[in-house]
Amino acid sequence: MINIKEDEKLSILNHSCAHLLAHAVKRIYPEALFWVGPVIEDGFYYDIDLGDKVVTEEDLEKIEREMKRISKDNKKIIKLELSKEEALEMFKDDPYKIDLINNMEDSITAYKQDDFIDLCRGPHVEYTKDIKYFKLLKVSGAYYKGDSKNKMLQRIYGICFNSEEELNDYLNMLEEAKKRDHRILGKELDLFMLVPEAGQGLAFWLPRGMAVRKVLEDYQYKEQLKAGYQFVSTPVIASKWLYETSGHWEHYQDMMFPLMERDGEELVLRPMSCPHHMLIFKSKLRSYRDLPIRYSEIVLQHRYESSGGLSGLERVRAMNLTDAHIFARKDQIEEEVIAAYELIDKAIKDLGLEIDYIELALRGEDNNSDKYHSNDEVWIETEEILKNILDKNNIEYIEKKGEAAFYGPKIDIQVRNILGTVITMSTIQLDMVLPERFDLTYVDNDGNKKRPVAIHRGYISTYERLLSILIEQYAGAFPLWLAPVQVNIIPVNSEYHSDYSKEIKELLIDNDIRIEFDDRNEKLGYKIRESQMQKIPYSVVIGDKEKEEGTITYRKYNSNDMITVNKEEFISLLKEEIIKKTI
Ligand code: ZN
Repeated sequence: MINIKEDEKLSILNHSCAHLLAHAVKRIYPEALFWVGPVIEDGFYYDIDLGDKVVTEEDLEKIEREMKRISKDNKKIIKLELSKEEALEMFKDDPYKIDLINNMEDSITAYKQDDFIDLCRGPHVEYTKDIKYFKLLKVSGAYYKGDSKNKMLQRIYGICFNSEEELNDYLNMLEEAKKRDHRILGKELDLFMLVPEAGQGLAFWLPRGMAVRKVLEDYQYKEQLKAGYQFVSTPVIASKWLYETSGHWEHYQDMMFPLMERDGEELVLRPMSCPHHMLIFKSKLRSYRDLPIRYSEIVLQHRYESSGGLSGLERVRAMNLTDAHIFARKDQIEEEVIAAYELIDKAIKDLGLEIDYIELALRGEDNNSDKYHSNDEVWIETEEILKNILDKNNIEYIEKKGEAAFYGPKIDIQVRNILGTVITMSTIQLDMVLPERFDLTYVDNDGNKKRPVAIHRGYISTYERLLSILIEQYAGAFPLWLAPVQVNIIPVNSEYHSDYSKEIKELLIDNDIRIEFDDRNEKLGYKIRESQMQKIPYSVVIGDKEKEEGTITYRKYNSNDMITVNKEEFISLLKEEIIKKTI
């Protein structure tokens, strides 16, 4: 995925393009006033006050045409250096510029192209002709200074490149992203819904989405069972005391929903399950022989993401995930970290995804006490341990300072999705702080009490985020093992073929195949088409021939071939594809 901000040349170009946009807008709407026009990862935007006017798609085309005209006219872009007084005088009729200038140092620069002048730090390209390969992408409302009490401005987004080819590649990629957009496909395929009136960022899992989630839950359950995890379940709300003890109250409160008080008790919606698992460990006397202990749970947790940051299932306020905490002796850390890594690596591969790179998130230089626990020795020790484990096991990684959890460093496993965006899929975090805060101990072989370490292990994202990733990865056409409906049974005639169709239905259910039974009184062609639209891997047609011969005829998703096999063959064909997790 392109990041304009990281490319100096493209940054300058996009910034210059924002001015070109403003220039064109000013020509068409002389009353327009301009707030800020920054470069962002995917291009630029400009916030514009157009009074009551709401900019439409057609307006965007008109503005774009005007931009092209100014570009062709090839005006020189001239830098002006102004004192604060001069700037205040020059923009005296513009309350937005006055606001900006008042917050600036004394030496102020502005850029002039033809009759259009705008405040700007620069730098810019030299001529308007240099800004040639651009596209206005969308328009939305944006409150002045992001405050909903303020006036709503029009925010116009665009992007600019060095060549036509680059621009076209980008626009094609956007088209592809649109086709795969999980918010659109999620609706079309009946997987989930969001009802803003019922709470922002709170997803509803619909039957088909829940079917996918159940497969993912069962998969993670089984893999963890093999890896020696035990399963627990703990409450979704907890006392403030619990998070004060863990330190989340001090370091993580911004991300939490506000406190609830009733009958003298103070409760919060949990943002994570670590403290609960600490208490389970603490509930019994532990011996060195009991370790490691690995507690896993399907956790429902809540985080107060800003409303601007919410996006489909990617970023929500209530999320479900299979989370785990491993309690270990120091001599067991390496083995546990590597085992967790392998568990994660296998899951990512099984889902048809790929690790892009590993990030080692460290505390970094800022010893920010709001963000991090303050024990320097523990930071040095835990960071060293994780580095050594990665080095020793030849796992390449990138160090990222300032990204650690408040209680310790972490290994973040990064996956690149099909559209090129990097996502933190999983995490392994080394923590010597929470065991201390909860005073966790075990009895060592010398009879002395010792402190265990905790390893926080996020498995494969949250179920919400993972569903969004998988929908986009497969454009809604899930591999058989994940598909919400694996086989759609379609009797040619819902009366004559009903008995045999029901026999097939039961046979498939008995073999744990997720089916749908379409005995509606519709034309066969229509039902098959709909089955394809729903991206169901197998559509099975039952007619006279199948009934007589005890066979079935199937058609795979995205294929026109109709293939007839006997019942048993069909079952074993499905089972093999499921076991192999064929993509
Ligand atoms: Zn945790």
